[in-house]
Amino acid sequence: MASTLSDRLSKLVKTMRGQARITESNVQDMLREVRMALLEADVALPVVRDFIARVKDKALGTEVAGSLNPGQALVGIVHKELAATMGEGVSDINLAAQPPAVILMAGLQGAGKTTTTAKLTKHLITKRKKKVLTVSADVYRPAAIEQLKTVTAQAGGEWFPSDPTQKPREIALAALDYAKRHYFDVLLVDTAGRLGIDEALMAEIRELHAALNPVETLFVVDAMQGQDAVNTAKAFKDALPLTGVVLTKLDGDSRGGAALSVRQITGAPIKFAGVSEKIDGLEVFDAERHAGRVLGMGDIVALVEEVQKGVDMDAAQKFADKMKSGGGFDLNDFLAQISQMKKMGGLSSLMDKLPSQLTAKAAGADMDKAERDVRRMEGIINSMTPLERRKPELLKASRKRRIAAGAGVHVQEVNRLLNQFDQMQGMMKKMKGGGLMKMMKRMGG
Ligand code: GDP
Repeated sequence: MASTLSDRLSKLVKTMRGQARITESNVQDMLREVRMALLEADVALPVVRDFIARVKDKALGTEVAGSLNPGQALVGIVHKELAATMGEGVSDINLAAQPPAVILMAGLQGAGKTTTTAKLTKHLITKRKKKVLTVSADVYRPAAIEQLKTVTAQAGGEWFPSDPTQKPREIALAALDYAKRHYFDVLLVDTAGRLGIDEALMAEIRELHAALNPVETLFVVDAMQGQDAVNTAKAFKDALPLTGVVLTKLDGDSRGGAALSVRQITGAPIKFAGVSEKIDGLEVFDAERHAGRVLGMGDIVALVEEVQKGVDMDAAQKFADKMKSGGGFDLNDFLAQISQMKKMGGLSSLMDKLPSQLTAKAAGADMDKAERDVRRMEGIINSMTPLERRKPELLKASRKRRIAAGAGVHVQEVNRLLNQFDQMQGMMKKMKGGGLMKMMKRMGG
């Protein structure tokens, strides 16, 4: 399994401890890793080159803040630049036009145009409360017209009939006329695709664009297309003034590098992501989150921020000092560590932010149960007297019964907690202090 970018960078960084600045000499190796990570995510080579040059510009001379090392700082810069390149903020469908607002769908065959037309229909009906009409101008594949009919019905929209004997332009204008006369807010026009770029196809969709004057011209592209996405995007961009991109099939296992390529080539914002074959499988595109996916490291930046925010550094330092001075690890410390974990945003929200390779391992774990367990452990420790927490060896049968009753659990659970405590105490002795601090430092790279 490929290691994540932050793993690789931290390996490199070990060789340059104590450097407080990103310099020409230390940045080269790090950028090579970033470049590899982007290529592995299927970002097109010319796009990678451009991107690396921009990151280098931004990174050189950057002072590395506080406890970060240059590798971590660079990951931060790369992540931010990726998110910025793929678009910031949220952009929904633009409907600022004299109704009906026309949305033209463009893309290769199989990209997911028809599916996305239905998903958008549903989105516009349920989220934007619009009256929506769809029409297919794909006169080459009668099955495509039928498919649109079916999925439009599923989405709760209305479908305008068309057939292969008509010209695409005729169909579009008839649908537009119908939409006007029946007061539709939106007309979605699905178009024919081809398996590859084709001049006749481009001419046809240009003609449709001229006839319809759409407020949105959406380029639908399959995230699994990887490197090829660049050529497709370029051809559609040259043919049409694109206003947005829909990246489909992000539920597959591609790292979604096509997003970066397509965004860079078209200059159009990525508005939505297709995340399943189902009609609800459409999400507003989230550039920040996607940047983490492209880098193969989940939302690691948000995780690091959350950890820094949630953890009381003073308390953690005191704890580390106490351990070092041989103060021993008691149930108070155990409780403190448990509540730190809770402050860090709960287990399941942390898991969400971790790289997929890590969470895959934990996928079997029941996170709700883990959180319940943590709360129960807290309840048990809170039922102990301060002395008992300092000296767990005092906890004989009668005290355990009292504590169990106080916390509303069985005595076995008190025993289980004491076992876990013993294990953690053993671990702490081995680590000689600062368990949480160390763990966090490791996590940050
Ligand atoms: P079109 O030729 O561009 O109209 O493409 P279709 O809408 O017919 O989609 C082609 C195939 O991709 C179909 O089997 C769809 O179910 C599938 N598809 C479309 N969007 C998604 C998506 O976001 N996720 C997944 N898993 N499949 C999708």
